[in-house]
Amino acid sequence: FSPWDNPHEEPLIRFKNVTKRFGSFVAIDNLTQDIYAREFFALLGPSGCGKTTMMRMLAGFESVSEGTIELAGQDMASVPPNQRAVNMMFQSYALFPHLSVYENIAFGLRRDKLSKDAIDARVTDMLKLTRLEKFARRKPHQISGGQRQRVALARSLAKAPKLLLLDEPLGALDKKLRQETQFELMDIQETTGTTFVIVTHDQEEAMTVASRVAVMDEGRIIQVATPGRIYEAPNSVYVADFIGDVNIISGTAKAAGTDRYFVDWAPNQAPILATSERPFVEGQECHLAIRPEKISITKEKPDEAENAVQGKVLDIAYLGNLSTYHVEMPGGQVIKAQTANTRRLSRRDITWEDPVWIRWNATAGVLLEH
Ligand code: ATP
Repeated sequence: FSPWDNPHEEPLIRFKNVTKRFGSFVAIDNLTQDIYAREFFALLGPSGCGKTTMMRMLAGFESVSEGTIELAGQDMASVPPNQRAVNMMFQSYALFPHLSVYENIAFGLRRDKLSKDAIDARVTDMLKLTRLEKFARRKPHQISGGQRQRVALARSLAKAPKLLLLDEPLGALDKKLRQETQFELMDIQETTGTTFVIVTHDQEEAMTVASRVAVMDEGRIIQVATPGRIYEAPNSVYVADFIGDVNIISGTAKAAGTDRYFVDWAPNQAPILATSERPFVEGQECHLAIRPEKISITKEKPDEAENAVQGKVLDIAYLGNLSTYHVEMPGGQVIKAQTANTRRLSRRDITWEDPVWIRWNATAGVLLEH
């Protein structure tokens, strides 16, 4: 269930069959997508897939070759960037170094010729929202990177845009600060009710902050869903592989009852059993996508015979809270299995070269066509 699957609400943004060409190169390919008010929408995908181009078209910095983009029901084609209720925050923040934090936030409001009192009230609100009251008089070089990021955010929100575009907003911060700032960003988005569209290379970041994630490839959106659905129910091997770690076991499908299939995956091996709402015909090629943490690993043969495969441990990566095992299955495919290290490791634990059993439930993976 997604709170955004609301057929009664008018989308704030509508991409309708949008194509963007640079010369003969197609950067965005007949893309149709709605984004709702108050969403925190993330665009994810490999370099060059068209994320920045989508943002630039929304902001009005880039024209649309075919199709339309609507904002609050209005076609944006003839609306210049400064007349759209859209703001864009860049990774570089682009703060004015000679202006104080206060003046940086006030800048756009002054240009709009608001009264002094109205400006002061709004800047004070923004300073409060981003917890920068104490730093109002300082210059950008007199505050930390995280604080500069918050100034940029305060400035972007000062004019109360309907839509804020964030291009790698936390890219300049180190990992720990970045993780803390993700929660601040979510709080601020919720408090202001502004629609946020974020581009990030960090898939964990997208999964953390976004209400919905769009996974893109070559100018197209392959899947749009909540982070949970993207992870648990990817619609393709591409999406499964793009988000997090996954094992793909390929084979041919054979009916095994309602919404259940056997997958022949290796000669002389019992077929894998998998549930699937997606239908497959007899003998159809299919791919089981299964996350490492859904696979258990034991030295002893498991009681449950279903989807139990014998293998050999090739490598173990100890990550503190987790351990990842690389297990070679009959036929040579290497499977990753991950366990939570909830108790102290002991000498009796699985080690290198150990013969082991791996096992998973029929419902643990997703059966995919391509
Ligand atoms: P990254 O993650 O590296 O920023 P991206 O997904 O944001 O990539 P875009 O910047 O949207 O990708 O670019 C999409 C494609 O369009 C790329 O192949 C890029 O080379 C091309 N492109 C972008 N802008 C132009 C331009 N002005 N002229 C020609 N080609 C362009």
